[in-house]
Amino acid sequence: METTILRKARPASGLRPNLGDYAAIYAGFSWQGARYELAGLPGGGLNIAYEALDRHLLRGRGSKLALRWLGKDGTQRDFSYASMARETNRFANVLRSAGIGNGDVVFTLLGRVPELYIAALGALKNGSVVSPLFSVFGPEPVKTRMARGGARAVVTTRHLYERKILPWRDQLPSLAHVFLIDGGEGSLPPGTTSLKAAMAAARNTFQIVKTAPEDIALLHFTSGTTGTPKGAIHVHEAVLAHHMTGKYALDLHPEDVFWCTADPGWVTGTSYGIIAPLTIGATLIVDEADFDAARWYAILSEQKVTVWYTAPTAIRMLMRAGREMVPKGTFDRVRFMASVGEPLNPEAVLWSADALGRPFHDNWWQTETGGIMIANYLSQDIKVGSMGRPLPGIEAAIVERDGEHVRIITEPMKSGELALKAGWPSMFRGYLHEEERYKKNFVDGWYLTGDLAMRDADGYFWFVGRGDDVIKSAGHLIGPFEVESALMEHPAVSEVGVIGVPDPVAGEIVKAFVALNPRYAESEALRKELLGHARLRLGPAVAPKEIVFRKNLPKTRSGKIMRRLLKARELGLPEGDISTLESDEK
Ligand code: ATP
Ligand code: MG
Repeated sequence: METTILRKARPASGLRPNLGDYAAIYAGFSWQGARYELAGLPGGGLNIAYEALDRHLLRGRGSKLALRWLGKDGTQRDFSYASMARETNRFANVLRSAGIGNGDVVFTLLGRVPELYIAALGALKNGSVVSPLFSVFGPEPVKTRMARGGARAVVTTRHLYERKILPWRDQLPSLAHVFLIDGGEGSLPPGTTSLKAAMAAARNTFQIVKTAPEDIALLHFTSGTTGTPKGAIHVHEAVLAHHMTGKYALDLHPEDVFWCTADPGWVTGTSYGIIAPLTIGATLIVDEADFDAARWYAILSEQKVTVWYTAPTAIRMLMRAGREMVPKGTFDRVRFMASVGEPLNPEAVLWSADALGRPFHDNWWQTETGGIMIANYLSQDIKVGSMGRPLPGIEAAIVERDGEHVRIITEPMKSGELALKAGWPSMFRGYLHEEERYKKNFVDGWYLTGDLAMRDADGYFWFVGRGDDVIKSAGHLIGPFEVESALMEHPAVSEVGVIGVPDPVAGEIVKAFVALNPRYAESEALRKELLGHARLRLGPAVAPKEIVFRKNLPKTRSGKIMRRLLKARELGLPEGDISTLESDEK
């Protein structure tokens, strides 16, 4: 496979990249040393919300814009670091007065509205555990997560409460408080509290609870791409990784206007959609609305976004919308763009470099890792199609399970399981109520990620596929990502999911499900052309034997293609947990 290299970008502005010399910084890094980048609570302890907000006040940066909220209807609301600190103090006092304390789990079920950000950081100040839920979940996924998390309180809207919580509330006695962000006191449903009224009555000063680095701070559920979502437990110390990875992998500076398009219901939307940019002292853009190419381009230029973090599903939609949609000058101020969540096909990197004038930098991590682990950096060449190299403080390897132990694969470009040396600050500390499952992921001091990858001679990592998705065909191990990337090169292809289907001779054969770009129509001739293209690019052993067209591919709510569902449907097997499936696909 030939590799395209995009040479490192010349800095567009006066800002020096935080990570200039990768090798030197990697070699000299220690988490203990990095600890001095954080303030720590006066008098001891470590609290995410203090690092994100209050410590900036002590340094005279209270008036700096922390969060700019863009409402669906065109409203804009600005919050300085000082006002965020005050509002979160109020919320912490609200929780305290309600008897919600240390370690109690506070859920949010909200769209991307300011109250979500205030509640999350305020709850952390109070020593409570925060679990943000994606507001488009139906009642069932909301209920399972809140019941598993033992919710003590939830912050939501009246509408969401009545539709998604009220129907089962009597089955969850632990849920003592429901705060509604809309509606006046008099007209509220029984058993709920007006957040507005409670906030107005609360003081705007608060003594932040002296949480220890190992105290639980966040509970995040995985995306459910491969099965029932797991609850990953994270501690306050994770803030050290949020901060350092924000600096190194996203090159965040206090001068930046940063937009992370992920919803806080997913770990990206919390680690980087709330915490990292604030600990760094940057300005965070929050858009309430869903994806819309024209709106997104307008936000980038009107808000003068300098660093942008999004996901392959959105990038595919931008590609589908076409380069004609990109207004001239949109990306003039954007100095860095990154992507996470799914493999980023080389085609998407090349398209962005060409059509947007900047390449997307792929990076890899998962809910369990709490922060970015492997990345392409601003100051380094991009090997197109690679996830990049491990962050300073992260040791990554390709391993093979060998009974009770692991063997490290040192041969370049040999596929195996991606493993991380255990012990970085944002490593998950448990799967909720699944101790055995948690332990099983750790062997010989390595955390085994469940993803397959390869490492090249320069130390760049290449994604092969999820462990469960890999295809065994006629003695070959085939990673779906390689096949999908080859098909994505064809101008007709908008999205593709590749699976293995049983075959009496080969064991499995490769089958591709393809969604077409708007200007293309399904036809036998096009199918043959795609088969031919794949065979030419991949060779007959790896190329798909079958290609079928689909209008849409099944995806999680966060936009990830669910290969397991393609497979289950293909084989007529039970669909398993589909609570995280996009509703129009069910
Ligand atoms: P579940 O664990 O419930 O099946 P999930 O693994 O999709 O869902 P997340 O933690 O949100 O839940 O996603 C992490 C996974 O997403 C990674 O393990 C990997 O498979 C995939 N992923 C994330 N970033 C990348 C990337 N840059 N390239 C390839 N795959 C990626
Ligand atoms: Mg996973």
